[in-house]
Amino acid sequence: MKTPLLDAIKLRPLLADGAMGTQLMAAGLEQGRCGEQWNLSHPDKVLGIQRRYVEAGSDCLLTNTFGGSRIMLNRHGASGEVGEINRAAVRIARDAFAASGREGWVIGDVGPFGGLMEPYGEFTEAEVRDAFAEQCAALVDAGADAIIVETQTGLEELGLGIDAAREAGAACVIGSLAYDVTLDGSTFRTMMGIDPERAAEFMAERGAHVVALNCGTGMDMERARQAVERYRAASPLPVMAQPNAGQPCLVDMKVVYNETPEEMVRGVGPLLDAGASIIGGCCGSTPEHIRAFRAAMDAHLGARA
Ligand SMILES: [Zn+2]
Repeated sequence: MKTPLLDAIKLRPLLADGAMGTQLMAAGLEQGRCGEQWNLSHPDKVLGIQRRYVEAGSDCLLTNTFGGSRIMLNRHGASGEVGEINRAAVRIARDAFAASGREGWVIGDVGPFGGLMEPYGEFTEAEVRDAFAEQCAALVDAGADAIIVETQTGLEELGLGIDAAREAGAACVIGSLAYDVTLDGSTFRTMMGIDPERAAEFMAERGAHVVALNCGTGMDMERARQAVERYRAASPLPVMAQPNAGQPCLVDMKVVYNETPEEMVRGVGPLLDAGASIIGGCCGSTPEHIRAFRAAMDAHLGARA
């Protein structure tokens, strides 16, 4: 039987995957279209992306379900397919490990619901709670080893996501925030003004098992290392970090990220030394980034052993 994710990270740090969204675009998904529906319409393309991550050395895959909640899918007229889309995503990620013969963990991905809650927006708390509950139940029923509630900026929505993952029975619940470096460059906090200490304390209280950061603005590998340190100082929970591959830039009308694998990989050792238990990449990171991370992690951990 496979070791539970929370036990596995006590033995050694694990490598997650890189971006899904930018890889789907590279595989032909048009801007503004629903990438999660590809779990049903183009499962071979999603599998291809995830196989490349496994072959590059990922120990964990995030399911292709970032926008897989009822509220997000409703924008594409697909709110009736929440269960099918999320269950298919878990199967595809599992198949990606099976195809390579490597053991790995499937992390069910839950992104923001994509709006604002009352009184600032049109969605009631109950609608958001129900949407997260439905998505988490499908991911856990299909056999996800963990749930990550990611790219969160406010504690209210993050808390609803953590509750939903716990109530669905997820064996491991990861809460992940997106930080932005402040204009003066002195620190970073989320768009809603949350700093890592407050986020870590909140997630520990709310019953998350792992505290994480992903995406954000200006959050390079060094900033991610600082976030890991601050999380570790504020909470006893293990930490996961998935920074973007630098900054997005427009080249020939296409969005590309400006950090190469060679540049990004320099930050892997420091991230491990800061105590990160799971490392991966967010927007713009590719199988080549993950392959470089694998080599750097193995070299660093081997040297430390
Ligand atoms: Zn991102």
